[in-house]
Amino acid sequence: MALKFCSLSSGSSGNSYLLGSDSTYILVDAGISAKKITDSLSCLNLAPEDLSGILLTHEHSDHIKGIDVLSKKYGLPVFTNEKTFLELKNLCKYWEQTRFNLFSNNEIFYIGDLEIKAFPVYHDAADTVGFSISCQGSKICTATDTGCATDEIIKELASADLIILEANHDEDMLKMGRYPWFLKQRILSDCGHLSNEAAGEIIAKILKQDPKQKRFLLAHLSKENNFPEMAYQTILNILETYNIFPCDKLKIDLLARDEMSGVYLL
Ligand SMILES: [Zn+2]
Ligand SMILES: [Zn+2]
Repeated sequence: MALKFCSLSSGSSGNSYLLGSDSTYILVDAGISAKKITDSLSCLNLAPEDLSGILLTHEHSDHIKGIDVLSKKYGLPVFTNEKTFLELKNLCKYWEQTRFNLFSNNEIFYIGDLEIKAFPVYHDAADTVGFSISCQGSKICTATDTGCATDEIIKELASADLIILEANHDEDMLKMGRYPWFLKQRILSDCGHLSNEAAGEIIAKILKQDPKQKRFLLAHLSKENNFPEMAYQTILNILETYNIFPCDKLKIDLLARDEMSGVYLL
């Protein structure tokens, strides 16, 4: 077994994923309270002290809520790119005391035995990234908080075995819902969030590029503008138009908003 993945929380109200090898554990984002993260880790017989750091996708509050306490109390290093680091200055209470490790997008770096690459996505923050995390020939990619997926992003995701992909909203629910117009425009834009429909099209493109065995975890679902069953069924309907059906080689699961996922082993 090379890689493990567990979602501690996924959705517009807070995101944090645990990834690890046999010897190294990290978080991708810490958008829920440090207490909730600590409690979730303890369900896996882990503690914050077992973590080697926190990778940050971007500075929005649903991705950084637990950073202050985790970095102050446990001295956990935070890995981020420079533009996000600078934004955090106004958002983190303990910015000066936090151990930041800066990475450059598209350059490989290592935490323990995990090989990591941040790749740019399209979102209305300073410099949002997705992550590719590899170990012993297995690869996990995260792509949430992006309004679109370019050919480069599709290519990156197609090289992974496990793909955490945003299915944020149902377009009709969003358009008819109670959000103010400017917020609807923001979410629907190329720098907003992926709809269920867009996620379905992206999965079809990924499978066209690399049809080997893959598992997709649908992530960052909106509380206001989506239902899990709707996200799942919309995506299946889109895949059906390409003659693609879930099978042993293609598995699609949903990540719950307020619950930990199971542990996925690669
Ligand atoms: Zn965001
Ligand atoms: Zn977010």
